[in-house]
Amino acid sequence: MNIIQFAFDMADAVGQFVQNAKRFFYNVMLFGYRCPKCNNSLIMIAEGICKCNLCEFEFDPTVQFQRCSNCGGKPVLKVRCYSCTNCGSDIRSKFLFDGLIFEKEYFKAKMDESRKRKKEQRERVREMLAESRSAELPLQAVDIGYNTLVLVTACIFAWSLKCYNNLCKTGCSSPIFRR
Ligand SMILES: [Zn+2]
Ligand SMILES: [Zn+2]
Repeated sequence: MNIIQFAFDMADAVGQFVQNAKRFFYNVMLFGYRCPKCNNSLIMIAEGICKCNLCEFEFDPTVQFQRCSNCGGKPVLKVRCYSCTNCGSDIRSKFLFDGLIFEKEYFKAKMDESRKRKKEQRERVREMLAESRSAELPLQAVDIGYNTLVLVTACIFAWSLKCYNNLCKTGCSSPIFRR
């Protein structure tokens, strides 16, 4: 079995599972809420943005439907979280899967930063994989998924392969590495 491929397959499966869980969460959260313009059902199209299935009106469900638990005030998005326009209390959105949303400018800056970091991580994984037993490793697999999960998994396996190689060089005594 190709252990690297297995790691990537597993990371893909986990990623798929998270996507499904997210979709399910949004369906449950938006159940019972209707479009304020035409009263039709809603679907989540991005973090903090839902859309009417009929008139296609797009809006933030937290601002539209949620109210401050202290004073009943309307939420406003402040960089990374909502706060009450009335009393200033933080409002934790119930319409967000992981509780996080980014105000547009902040989001753009964070995305640029994240892209740069991912590129560096990819380079690093590529280097680590190349240092390990290069003949058996499918380097192109590094390009399959850019999500962190894949990179982290690849890092772990690259690291363990490195340890395995080192153990074999120095004489392997750990029962974990015996065949
Ligand atoms: Zn509508
Ligand atoms: Zn309030």
